Amino acid sequence: MLKHLVLLAALALPGASAASYTVRSGDTLFQIAVQNRTTVEALMAENGLTSTTIRVGQVLRLPEGSGEAAVKNYGYVAGVKVQAPSRLREGDAFTLRLRGAAALQATVRFPSELNEDVRRPNEALRPFRVAGDEGYVLGRVVLGAQAPVRFEVEVNGQVLRGQIPVRENGLPVQVLGVSQDVVDTLADPRRQEEERRMEQAYALRGEPRWTQPFILPGTGPTTSAFGQKRRNRSQDPIRYHYGTDQRGAVGAPTRATNDGTVVVAGKFPVRGGLVVIDHGGGLVSAYFHLSKILVKEGQTVKRGQKIAEIGSTGFSTGPHLHWEMRLRGEAVDPLGWVNKLRP
Ligand SMILES: [Zn+2]
Repeated sequence: MLKHLVLLAALALPGASAASYTVRSGDTLFQIAVQNRTTVEALMAENGLTSTTIRVGQVLRLPEGSGEAAVKNYGYVAGVKVQAPSRLREGDAFTLRLRGAAALQATVRFPSELNEDVRRPNEALRPFRVAGDEGYVLGRVVLGAQAPVRFEVEVNGQVLRGQIPVRENGLPVQVLGVSQDVVDTLADPRRQEEERRMEQAYALRGEPRWTQPFILPGTGPTTSAFGQKRRNRSQDPIRYHYGTDQRGAVGAPTRATNDGTVVVAGKFPVRGGLVVIDHGGGLVSAYFHLSKILVKEGQTVKRGQKIAEIGSTGFSTGPHLHWEMRLRGEAVDPLGWVNKLRP
C-alpha cells in the first residue's frame, strides 16, 4: 500500500523524481553546471530560465543524465564480480571494481583505446588492492571520444567483456582572443624539453600513494571548465582545455591535491611556472602558470601542502591556476576527483 501511495505521488508531481539542486549563497549557474556535470544552456532549458540570474533557495531541476552515474554490475568472471559506471562522459576517469578471491589476479584492458589517440592504448593493467579480496583499476575516456568504452577482464584464462556508453560533454566552442605574444610561446624552441618532461611524468606507474580524498588546489571560483572546446583566435583550430581554471590573485596559495612526489618543478615556455606531482597508480596532477614555486623535484608532498603561488606565467592571459589530472598520460576531469578517494 505504501509503495502504491509513493507511485501516486510521483505521478501527481511530474518531474518530482528528477534530481534537483537548491541554490546557495555565492553560487553561479556556471559552477552549478560544472559541479553537476552539465552545461549552463542545459540548466536554463530544463528550468525555463531566460537569464543566468539565480537566487538563494531557488530549486533547479537537473537535466537528465547529469550528476553521478550509477554503479552497474557487469557480471562475474572466475568468481570475480565486475562493477563499473553505467554510463560515462568524454574526459571522465572512472573506477572498475573487482571483488572475489581471485580479484587481484585479474588483468584488465580497454581495447576501445586502440581506435583512439591515446598514450599506450590497451595497456595490460593489474588491479590495485582496496582491502581483502577487493581491487580496482582506473579507466579513462579521452576528450573527443564518443564510442563506448570496451573493457576486458581476464582471470585465470577466463574473460569477461563489457562496454560502457559515452556521451559528449556538450560544452560550446569558446574563442579566447589570445594576443600574438602569448601565441608565440607555443613556438618557443624550449618547448620540446617541456613536452619531454611531461611525457616522462605521464609514463610513471606504481602503487597509488594516496589514502584520502582529493582536494581543490585553489580557493577561487572555477572560471573555465575542463574539456571546453577552444580556439586561441577565431581562425585557429579547435583544441581542448585539458584542465580546470580557478581564479586567484598573484601570490595566492596553490595546494597539493593529494599526497605524492614532485617530479617536475620549474619554469617552462607554455605551462610557465609548473609543478607536477606523481600520486602513483599512473596518476599525476599538474599546476600551471605559477609565479613562485615552493617545492623541489624529488620532494615528497602531503595533501593540502602549499606547493606554489598563483601567477600568470607562460601561455596565460591573466592570473589563475590551471589544474590538470592525467591518468596514464591522458587528461581527465579534475572535478571528478574532488572530495573522493577515486573517481
Ligand atoms: Zn586552463
